[in-house]
Amino acid sequence: QALHDLEKDRSDGATSDGHPVQLLANIGTAEDAERLTEAAVEGVGLFRTEVLFLGRTTAPTRQEQAEVYARVLTALGGRKVVVRTLDAGADKPLAFVTRTDEENPALGVRGYRLVRTAKELMADQLAALAAAQEATGVQPWVMAPMIATVDEAAEFAAMAREAGIAKAGVMVEVPSAALRARDILAEVDFVSMGTNDLAQYTMASDRLLGSLVDLLDPWQPAVLDLVAAVARGGREAEKSAGVCGESASDPLMALVLTGLGVTSLSMSPAAVPAVRFSLARHSLERCQKMAAAALAAPTAAKGRAAVLALCDPQV
Ligand code: PEP
Ligand code: MG
Repeated sequence: QALHDLEKDRSDGATSDGHPVQLLANIGTAEDAERLTEAAVEGVGLFRTEVLFLGRTTAPTRQEQAEVYARVLTALGGRKVVVRTLDAGADKPLAFVTRTDEENPALGVRGYRLVRTAKELMADQLAALAAAQEATGVQPWVMAPMIATVDEAAEFAAMAREAGIAKAGVMVEVPSAALRARDILAEVDFVSMGTNDLAQYTMASDRLLGSLVDLLDPWQPAVLDLVAAVARGGREAEKSAGVCGESASDPLMALVLTGLGVTSLSMSPAAVPAVRFSLARHSLERCQKMAAAALAAPTAAKGRAAVLALCDPQV
């Protein structure tokens, strides 16, 4: 059953006064996409394609990839699907490409940076996505992870468009990209913030270290400052600026992100109903007040408390 068949059971994400905020799913496999019918989401905001590459000794062929991408596009029945190109390295090492001699893999050749050493992987993946687009008649949105500079964003957009992809974007998960969001948005069609890595790199705290969770907190005002800068850039460019990190699944943070001007929230499908409910209980103006309170707070805990005080008690 295609997702669009469930249209009548689903209301789109919106604040109480009707300001739309797309509610999207994070997925890793075609099976995840096919199971989305029950979650009633407006689309997929992050398809982590590296899952297809993990645990193998060679990369999947173009043909293999195209089949998986076509299954995902078909399952979504024409709804938005944001596909992320291979994000290998650091916490997602790949046997056939990730170097083992890097002292700081999180700061090494990971994500988009792989084009420096294995450009054919990107070329194959973009060709496979174009083939899936051709086979299904559905245009995927395609974005690259770990972009740090305007040059990288422009180079990726050119490669994607050359391959026949109409919607090319990048993830903003490195502080340099957030600070220069306006210039990056001049090169691409959309951006999506990966707040897991954005917090890791802003706070200089390894996301795999449980002992640093307080530093990795997306309520850290410094992280929110960067999110605000990206959302502002999106608004000025009139292009979508979403969030696809874990922070989007927190019903309270979702209100802050909405108030900052984030246009879509992508999360694990199970988190969608609570976020939809939270949005529906608050006006855009209230969300903007919450965003201002979170930014004005000197600490993560004070920001969260200030936002909670403005929140509907039912959420
Ligand atoms: C992120 O960094 O927030 C993100 C969505 O990507 P991943 O968690 O896959 O690195
Ligand atoms: Mg990331």
